[in-house]
This record gives sequence, structure tokens and C-alpha cells, in this order.
Amino acid sequence: MAATNPESPSTFRTASACPLDCPDACSLEVSVEGGRIVSIGGSRVNPLTEGYICAKVRRFPEHLYGPDRVRVPQIRTGKKGEGQFRRASWEQALDVIAARMRQLASRGHGDRILPFSYGGSNGYLSQDTTDARLFSRLGASRLARTVCAAPSGAAADGLYGKMPGVAFPDYVHARLIVLWGVNPSVSGIHLVPHILEARRRGAKLVVIDPRRTRLAAQADVHLPVRPGSDLAVALALHRWIFESGAADETFLAEHATGVDEFRRRAASWTFARAAEVAGVSAGDLEKFARLYAETEPAVVRCGWGLERNRNGGSAVAAVLALPAVAGKFGVRGGGYTMSNSKAFDLDALSAARADAWTTREVNMNRLGSALLGEDGGRVELLFVYNSNPAATIPDQGKVLRGLSREDLFTVVFDPVLTDTARYADVLLPAATFLEREELSRGYGALVLQRARPAAEPVGESRPNHEVFADLCRRAGVARDGDPETAEELTRSILDASREGQAIEARLSQGAAAFPGGNPAPVQFVDVFPRTPGAKVRLVPEELDAAAPEGLYGFRPDPATAAFPLALISPATDRTISSTLGDLHRGPVPLEIHPQDARRRGISDGDAVRVFNERGEVLCRARSNATLPVGVVLLPKGLWRHATENRATATALVPDSLTDIGGGACFNDARVEVERRGP
Ligand code: SF4
Repeated sequence: MAATNPESPSTFRTASACPLDCPDACSLEVSVEGGRIVSIGGSRVNPLTEGYICAKVRRFPEHLYGPDRVRVPQIRTGKKGEGQFRRASWEQALDVIAARMRQLASRGHGDRILPFSYGGSNGYLSQDTTDARLFSRLGASRLARTVCAAPSGAAADGLYGKMPGVAFPDYVHARLIVLWGVNPSVSGIHLVPHILEARRRGAKLVVIDPRRTRLAAQADVHLPVRPGSDLAVALALHRWIFESGAADETFLAEHATGVDEFRRRAASWTFARAAEVAGVSAGDLEKFARLYAETEPAVVRCGWGLERNRNGGSAVAAVLALPAVAGKFGVRGGGYTMSNSKAFDLDALSAARADAWTTREVNMNRLGSALLGEDGGRVELLFVYNSNPAATIPDQGKVLRGLSREDLFTVVFDPVLTDTARYADVLLPAATFLEREELSRGYGALVLQRARPAAEPVGESRPNHEVFADLCRRAGVARDGDPETAEELTRSILDASREGQAIEARLSQGAAAFPGGNPAPVQFVDVFPRTPGAKVRLVPEELDAAAPEGLYGFRPDPATAAFPLALISPATDRTISSTLGDLHRGPVPLEIHPQDARRRGISDGDAVRVFNERGEVLCRARSNATLPVGVVLLPKGLWRHATENRATATALVPDSLTDIGGGACFNDARVEVERRGP
């Protein structure tokens, strides 16, 4: 699409695709006037988009042209964290960076370089292409990208080899929809109309979420579980399904391994025990179990809320095991949806000719420890792109202390002046997805799209793949024949895929491509586990060995008498992780149940201190009766300007790791709240 207004050739509409960290991968229609993007709406190239998008991306022009946009390369002049810079040319900036890289690599200290990136764009061209080539050839430390989806990814891979999930439009065929740890009203909004349509057709709805979200308020069963207790709830369901005779033993015998061991591990989880742990009624657990066992088709939308705690990987594994144990596959609208990010057989890393990489691995959730040398290694050069760790990574105080190190050379490559960018020694302006080529995939929507630039990049900003290719040359690690341009990289990625030609045929017509050409596969009819023998592995040995208590081993709540309240930090309708946090400058309150507030002498609007042994957040209180007693809330993705002391929820989050996958335990933060001042 490129519709030009004949009376004003500089006014036109063009097509794009959203690669931001959201399941839906919307197809976009972008209006451009005089070289500037003036509005963004949805198109129908990706059928799931249905012509509308979220309010977040509708505001993207403010982000593109706002005061925080980084327009030129800059070099630090002030203290670390002050955000004071002087202008530099690209030549100067890249030469400074490349010289540092060469120096470290030539001394055998390549692993003192730490590349740090996550999810600022899920496009194939902006991460894991020329960046991976650069850092692998320098022998840099490897980053374990674990801040989100690592435990659930490990579970989905272990049980099913990341089998593609139920397509969102197929939810209308379900008679029971289970939303577990997911709130599509604010993230992945295109699932909502399909849920509502299924409800109109008579489907039941079960929501497992500590909060009474919009969909939870209209559910047939809402289980407001204590954060970290989802595993107990899922195992209690399994126990009942096995013991009541509702398990599909025929399916299990033919398609699953580890059945007896799994049954044994669930056996001690009575409804009473799970109800006690989760803070819900045993009666509601039984109601849910009966509904699930008796309803066909039944689909589970498993989100990422349940993975963010010490039991997170096991919880996701137990939830994903439900359709296998209860025999819910093989019918349209039955099964589960987790992440579909691996639905295509595309491998950007190999296509970009990254070297095999065996240096030390740094878990991104322990960035603070890595920067402070607490993990035994040393980081001298930190290169941050597609992410904002000062705002998003656990133990914010430690991360900020690490970023403040005078002897740390930090490069930040970002479209806007993030909290992390303020700590940069060299700041590089990155082009956004609307200003460059991209190959965008969904991880909810089963779709791949190609996006061309809708407008010229603001200032001197440049695309990721271009800058990393340039750095490869300057650092002396480029090789003849390396694909460098967007065109070369795209061709290289598609050429290596079995489906490459079919995908290219669709993309070259401006259409969306679907894995295997099928936008809505049925599990165990069109798609099967990608595991040995195509079996569901209910107790994968590698996960069992990795989990401290073994897979499905429950670790109790970390609350103490001093810090009894569970702090959660869920996604909101304002930011995509921390992307677009620049647009939300107002102070953000702590949400607290009226009963918890009263006990502490706190009234609505009072100044409060939220604290634990790790740090404190100073803000106002807002009473919220839709939270369970004992749970408080600060939103995910806040920038530091959102609170009085420039600390966000991550200041209170431990840098402990989930049972499998090395994930972040955001919902294991336990805190106390007190009123401040008169
Ligand atoms: S953030 Fe999600 S809903 Fe919003 S435009 Fe992007 S893909 Fe669509």
C-alpha cells in the first residue's frame, strides 16, 4: 500500500508492521505528511489486526518527534547518569567504540564486552543479525535473554518442542476459555473480540489472575491466586483429573511420556492444600476442574504472569500439561496458546553468519552483579540496544550502581533518551521500526510481515543492522560476503528456510506469510510436538535436573513478618514493557487493597514509602479493592521519572532466578508499606 494524495504528493498512506514486544504483530497503515508520520492505524494485511491497533502505538508519533528523541550521536560530558552530552559525528562515535573493542579483543579480553538487548523490537533485522556477528567474532560475553519468557519458553520447549498454538481467531470455537496469567485487555488486545464472540456463543470463561481484571470481572470462575501459587493450583487440577477418571488415558498412552511420574508428582495436591497456598476457595478450584474436564473444546491461553516467580517454569509446564492430560487436543478451538515465536523455521543468527559462541554467559537478570564483578567476571564495555535495563532489570539499585562505575565504558543505541541512556559514555541514535526495513513476526499472531520505511529517520538516526555492520568493519571482524543490507539479510534468512520461497512469494505481494501457509493450525491435527517421537514429555529430564526441587517441586512464599505484602508489577495499557515510558510523566501511585491500607493508617492519596531490604519507592497510595488483600501493585515498565525518588518496582525485586530458564522473579518481591509525613 502506498496511496498518494494527487493534490499533495508529500501526503500519503503506507503500510508497515508492528515489531514491538506484543503478541499481536499488527499490520499498520501509516499516514505521512511532509515527510512526518502524523497518524498510525491498523490495516487488514494481518487478518488478526482487523483494522485497529492499541492506543499505545497510536501515540507513537509523539515518541518519534518528542523532546526525548535522540537525534545525533553524542559523547558524555557530565557525570554518569546526568544525561549531559556533546554532539559527535557518527565517524567519531563509531571510531571511539571500535577502538575500545579492538583493544579488548586484541588482549584476549573480548569477554569483557557485554552486549545487552531485549525485546525493544522483535523484528528479525534489529536483533541477532549483524549485532550477533560483531559480538560473537569479538569473543564478547554472551547474554542470556531471560527477563521475560525464558521459563515459559523452557517449559513449552521441554513439553512440546514449541508446537505452534491455537490461533486467536479459533477461540470463537471454544466452549471454555481459560486465561491464565494474562490480561489481553491491555496486552495482545486482538484476542479480546474473539473471547467476547465465544462468550456470545455460550462459552464459559475462567480467569486465573490475582487482580479482578476487566475479563476476570465477567468470568464464570475467577481465581485471584496469591502470586507464585499457580503451580499449586495447576497440580491440584491434575490430581483431580487423574483421580476422578477424567484423564484421557488413551491419548496419554499414545502421545505422552512421563505420565506415571507426573501423576505421582501431582498426587499430594488436594484442592484443600492448593486452596490454602493460593488463598482461594477449594470449592472454586473444584468448579474450575469440573468445567475444564467436562467442556469441549477447551483452550488455555497461558500468559507470562505465572512465570515471574520462583516456581514459574514448573507452573507453566503444569498448565501446558492440562490439555494433554484432559485430552483437549485434536479439535478446532481446543488446546493451548503460549508463544508462537518459533512457528517459522527462520534462523537469523546463522543467516547473519554469527560465529559459534562459547564465551561466558551473563544472565541479564543479574546485570547489576555482573557490572559490579560479583559473578567473578569483569565487564569493561557494555553495549545496550533494544532495551532499558536501568528501568526493567531486577535489583535496580545494583544495576544503577553498576552503570555508575567510572571505569565502565557504556554505549547506548536507542531512539530515545531512556533511563539507561543517561548513563552512556557514547549515545547513538537508533532508527525506529517506522524509519527502516524490518521483517516482523508475531509471537501470538502466526504471521510474518515485511515493513519498508514509512518516513526518513529523524535526525541522523540509523538502523541497527547498518550500525553493527559498520562496527564489524571498524573493529576488524568483517568478512567478505557477509550480508549487510536489509535486503541481503532478509534474503539470507529466507534462503536458509524450507519455507523461504513461499514466504517470499507472499511478502513480495505485500501480504502476510503464515507458517506452513496455515494461519490457524489445529494442534494434533495440523501441528504436532517437535519432540522425539512427537510425544508430549510431561517430565522432561533436562528440566527436572535443572529445577532446584525437581520439576513441579513447589517452593513456599518468600514473605516474612517484616515484608508480608506481595508486590506485583503487571503490564498496563500505557507502555510496551518500558517502551513509550517517555510519554508518561505523571507520578504513578502504589495500588493497595483498602483493608491493607486501613491497617497501616493509609488513606487514598497519602504519601507512602514502599520498601524492603533491597530499596524503597516513594509515591502516593491509591486504594484498589480489585486487588486481593496482601497484594500491592506498581505497574511494569515505569521510567524513573514516575516516582518521587526515581526508583521503580524493580528496585524492590530480588535478582533471584526462576526454577528453570533463569527467569526474573518480579512477583517474588515482598514489601512493607508505611505512610510518610503528616
Ligand atoms: S503493540 Fe501490539 S496491539 Fe499495539 S500495534 Fe503493536 S502489535 Fe498491535
